[in-house]
Amino acid sequence: MTQTYKALVAKRLDGKLAVGFEQLSAAEIGEGDVEIAVEYSTLNYKDGLAMSDAIPIVQQDKLILGIDMAGTVVSSDNSRFSVGDKVVLNGYGASETHNGGYTQRLRTKGEYLVKLPAGISTRQAMAIGTAGYTAMLSVMRLERLGVVPESGVVLVTGASGGVGTVAISLLSALGYRVTASTGRMEEADFLKSLGASDVINRAELSEPGEMMQAPRWAAAVDSCGSHTLANVIAQLHYSGVVTACGLAQGLDLPSNMMPFALRNVSLLGVDSVHAPMPLREEAWRRLAKDLDMAKLEALLVNIPFDDVPAAAGKILQGQIRGRAVVEIGS
Ligand code: NDP
Repeated sequence: MTQTYKALVAKRLDGKLAVGFEQLSAAEIGEGDVEIAVEYSTLNYKDGLAMSDAIPIVQQDKLILGIDMAGTVVSSDNSRFSVGDKVVLNGYGASETHNGGYTQRLRTKGEYLVKLPAGISTRQAMAIGTAGYTAMLSVMRLERLGVVPESGVVLVTGASGGVGTVAISLLSALGYRVTASTGRMEEADFLKSLGASDVINRAELSEPGEMMQAPRWAAAVDSCGSHTLANVIAQLHYSGVVTACGLAQGLDLPSNMMPFALRNVSLLGVDSVHAPMPLREEAWRRLAKDLDMAKLEALLVNIPFDDVPAAAGKILQGQIRGRAVVEIGS
């Protein structure tokens, strides 16, 4: 009997996106020089967006969904990879222009893959996932602008989400004093267990605010955009820095010039999808060194592969706490 592999596939029919499980043949699992037995994937906010088609993330008539995956190389024509290597894929157009990680078997280009550093298992890699790797990129962006623990308090918005929880864990492990902003005050103890010193209600940041406000933050990691980011910019200290990677509140940025011109503040974009390979490798090395894997366990929500379509709606409604790991299974 011909071997087939279970995959979650999106098909665009008459402009509408249909999402469902299919059994794919070896010829349908993608193109490239490396084949991977996928062990774990994740559910990210962007996966939710892709399945809802609220933003046209899927740009092909048919592809395998899932913006990330981790697994073991089963065949390779690429000199960087050998059979048995543990690898991770984040972004690079996965689930946008070519096949992603919601599949038992994936064939893709070696140039998209990072070899996992020793000390990170495939499950831990997906517990980190694209959200956690983006949190690491955000922290590295702050560091490159000279932010150090002595600079002062660092705010993390969208605190209970994937980027937020890993950012809090990383920053506190690195010695920063962290304030978490959340819409789920019932998660305050959880956020403190990750390392937040203080927790504020996101309602303090989510409404339109003054152009310049009392300085509160030396730096911030934002994944919300919209009024939240505008208020954070207005509340940065002199020479404060905020990274912006996400749009959980909205795509807009109703900010103004005053904090930039009068307080010397910096707004730094963070993109994980097309981050160059040396930066990715550095981020994964740093995650292996700086992230407390015991804390990571506390962030995990396990999602069976079959439940991914239903869970996608929940993540868009902010109903998933921490990092959602999908066990693909053979
Ligand atoms: P999650 O859904 O896991 O977390 C987002 C969090 O934002 C929620 O948990 C919630 O936290 C908060 N939130 C939700 N709705 C609102 C709202 N209306 N106003 C304010 N806060 C809200 O998503 P991720 O952490 O995976 O991703 C966060 C964002 O970052 C997304 O927009 C995602 O697309 C983007 N992203 C971008 C990347 C890039 O490369 N640029 C890579 C990875 C993610 P709480 O309940 O604590 O308030």
